[in-house]
Amino acid sequence: MERVCVYCGSNPGFRPVYGEAARRLGRALGEHGLGLVYGGGNAGLMRVLADAALEAGARVTGVMPEVLCAMGRAHEGLTELRVVPTMHERKALMAELADAFIALPGGLGTLDELFEAWTWAQIGLHRKPIGLLDVGGFFGPLVAHIDRAVGEGFMRGQHRDMLAVESDPERLLERFASYEPPRIGKLLDQEYL
Ligand code: AMP
Repeated sequence: MERVCVYCGSNPGFRPVYGEAARRLGRALGEHGLGLVYGGGNAGLMRVLADAALEAGARVTGVMPEVLCAMGRAHEGLTELRVVPTMHERKALMAELADAFIALPGGLGTLDELFEAWTWAQIGLHRKPIGLLDVGGFFGPLVAHIDRAVGEGFMRGQHRDMLAVESDPERLLERFASYEPPRIGKLLDQEYL
């Protein structure tokens, strides 16, 4: 594992615990010699994360669509800023550049990116680990809803279990190091499809 893609809020959230988590994760990436790939933003948890990672010596790659760049949303001090034409290309490039994915608390953008990485993994398009850094109980209701989807017959428990949920970045990175994706199909009435 060389680079970790982190999805997180372009807002900071109301509680200090969110910024602290972003800072801890950025620092942990630097301390482990890992590079950060993220959306390239200069605000909210995105900025806190990128600044902490840079300060800890990590290489930080931002990937931003032209439209957000033109609005002045790009962080100016990154190791590398990749500007792409569309949001779709942004997500594709972020996913391609990274060896693992982590979501911190965030809003719709964060959830969109997390679920895209997870659905791609579910149908075997990649074998990279995915985790949530859960702080302040933020992701509890989301995880409960995924459990509901399993309980109601819309997804397999093995696909839910692909997502590592931890409150400590070190523990999350440790789990990534031993991650093995399940070899099982998506459809519940067929074994391998
Ligand atoms: P959100 O969770 O809605 O704040 O969206 C944040 C996520 O979506 C980040 O991981 C970014 O990749 C992307 N994103 C959405 N809005 C922005 C923005 N204004 N600046 C930078 N990235 C953004």
